[in-house]
Amino acid sequence: MTPRLRTAALLLPLLALLALPGTASADEGQWPPEALATLGEARWAELAARGLELGATDLWDGKGGGLLTAVLGLGGCTGAFVSEEGLFLTNHHCAFGAIQLASTPEKNYLRDGFVARSRAEEVPARGGVGRVRILTRLSDVTDRVRGPKSAFARAKDDAAREAAVEKARSEIVAECEKQPDRRCAVAAFEDGRTYRLMEQTEFRDVRLVYAPPRGVGDFGGEVDNFRWPRHAGDFSLLRVWAAPDGSPAAHAPENVPYRPKRWLPVSSKGVSEGDVVMIAGYPGRTQRYLTPSAVENLESWFYPLRSRTFTDLIEILETEGKKDPDTALRVSGAVKGYGNGETNARGQVEGLARNGVAARAREEAKELEEFLAARKDLPAEWTAAPAELEKVLARDREGQERRFFLEEIERLSSYLSSALSAVRRADERKKPDLEREPGFQERDLERARQQEKDRTLSLAPAATRKALAYLVEKAREASKDAPVRAFDEAFGKDAGRAAIEKRLAEMDAATSLSDENVRLANVDATLASLSASADPYVKLAVGLHADLAAIRQKRKETNGALLVWRPRYLSALEALRRSKGKAISPDANSTLRVSFATVKGYSPREAVTFTPRTSLAGVLEKARAEEPFAVPGKVLDAARAGRFGRWADPVLGSVPVGFLTDGDTTGGNSGSPTMNGKGEVVGLNFDRVWENVAGDFGWRPERSRNVNVDLRYALWMMEEVDGAAHLVKELLPAK
Ligand code: ASP
Repeated sequence: MTPRLRTAALLLPLLALLALPGTASADEGQWPPEALATLGEARWAELAARGLELGATDLWDGKGGGLLTAVLGLGGCTGAFVSEEGLFLTNHHCAFGAIQLASTPEKNYLRDGFVARSRAEEVPARGGVGRVRILTRLSDVTDRVRGPKSAFARAKDDAAREAAVEKARSEIVAECEKQPDRRCAVAAFEDGRTYRLMEQTEFRDVRLVYAPPRGVGDFGGEVDNFRWPRHAGDFSLLRVWAAPDGSPAAHAPENVPYRPKRWLPVSSKGVSEGDVVMIAGYPGRTQRYLTPSAVENLESWFYPLRSRTFTDLIEILETEGKKDPDTALRVSGAVKGYGNGETNARGQVEGLARNGVAARAREEAKELEEFLAARKDLPAEWTAAPAELEKVLARDREGQERRFFLEEIERLSSYLSSALSAVRRADERKKPDLEREPGFQERDLERARQQEKDRTLSLAPAATRKALAYLVEKAREASKDAPVRAFDEAFGKDAGRAAIEKRLAEMDAATSLSDENVRLANVDATLASLSASADPYVKLAVGLHADLAAIRQKRKETNGALLVWRPRYLSALEALRRSKGKAISPDANSTLRVSFATVKGYSPREAVTFTPRTSLAGVLEKARAEEPFAVPGKVLDAARAGRFGRWADPVLGSVPVGFLTDGDTTGGNSGSPTMNGKGEVVGLNFDRVWENVAGDFGWRPERSRNVNVDLRYALWMMEEVDGAAHLVKELLPAK
């Protein structure tokens, strides 16, 4: 085959998946940019009839142009350029870390909000939103990653297969990043059946421009999270700065506001029920084609355990936060993260049951078995796939509770997690750069250093050691068959939670990791020097590293096996669905996607109907003296006085706040611009409804609703409440 033909053949599976969109349910589908051109004329005509005025190439022309190049990846969230001088919008909850890290108990931007009155007042944004990426090019690299001549094809066992794929990905990324300022990633599509290279330009001088008070941005808190009706003003405004020549640069006084090639116009007109919209962003992960046992494991083990664990951790951290405002601020991001994860976990358990996801997976598995038995013309490896896949998953579940707690320990930001990452980095450094794990290569060093600097602002040892003692105790309970030696050595064999905490307090007093410079030096330290360290946390990390490395090794073996069997399973499932005139829609994988939707209410349960829009009137109805429903005084005054300025919606008779659409979204879509039929921003996606949380594992058109904040709420807050008319002017320049 000529290279070109081969590429075309490799693209076929994905395009085949996408070729039957008309037969997928309603608006199911998170379409990769280049798939838009394959949706078919009928689909585009149908969208045009619903009010869409744009076509595939207006969104993505394949040459680095199109509306989608205004959409920004923020690492776990999405944003979009909305002014010619680099302003971008995202959610308040996406900028939460940056707002927290810029706050002090005296200048508490998290509580009070933040307005930059001039460009000079814009504050450097730390944490996740401090780096933003624009996608410039996508190309298929399947052949290099797992084609017939690849190391993958020659690999002898599962671990080698996984290593071959990871090495190929790293090599492709390294080649791509030879260009200055480019950040590249190779993403697996369809469970690793195809791979794409994403070329992105990364900017790293990002500044906070506007954030509403938490009482607006996070109004309703965890009580309302994943719920409708919703009244949170979940928006914030940031700006990308660049070197005077427009190239990405680290924060520097000579930098200037970046002038993006493309930004999205802002509409002041809002939406009405029945309008067509597009939501563009970086959905994290959906898994709609799991085997029955995988769904059952999520429903009966993973999500319930996650919910219980996070509930306990929130309680521990909040109790400590109540004792001291500085601690409260330092743990606020962690508490919010656990809160979101816990609510989501409960929603998953309930939704998986209510939607009968496991039962449906079982039914389909049975159908698949019969189908494959009858279709002798299909490849034997497809026929073998369901049973082989279940074997791999059963092996992977062994020791999963132990793994869960050890990984939570690694994730909790603390002296220990800092030491663990230093030890892991040092261990990885023994390998050639491109064979090191992602996140631990030379290209990741700058980030690792920044993480240690940010950590300085969120370390709260007195609170963290209580959380750590809890997790260590749980990990030990789950490790009866394979005790963690490092814990025995650090805490004594039979130490209970109180004794563990007492020992951690001694370690906190003795460690030098409270010093940022020591942590920064550890980023570059060798394994020998870390192994010789007398620091109690480094010692514990060196011991624990072996257990974590073994867990990672097992995961690599699992992944290597999944890389073989998941694509075959998907192909078999696809053949079954095709035989019934049904399609498979592409799962989310943290790459740029577009979802088409309609502004629409729904019925969460019998006899209840939700209309799709909310307003300030509802904010007043929910307002209480206590958080999370305490409305900031200035907002309350303006709302009560009916000071709506030019932002009242004629139908609602008040300032619109939220709206529902039936988009196909998930976590990571937070901050995605919601655009009208002309491609103008009318809102920002920030959530889904409770009945749709489990949509990650199975699409239900009748309950798939995502929650958006109406942009007019943001414009009203800036113009009428916070005296930030200069920003509204920049967002809505006079034509
Ligand atoms: N609220 C979610 C997030 O934080 C969005 C979602 O899950 O739909 O990403």
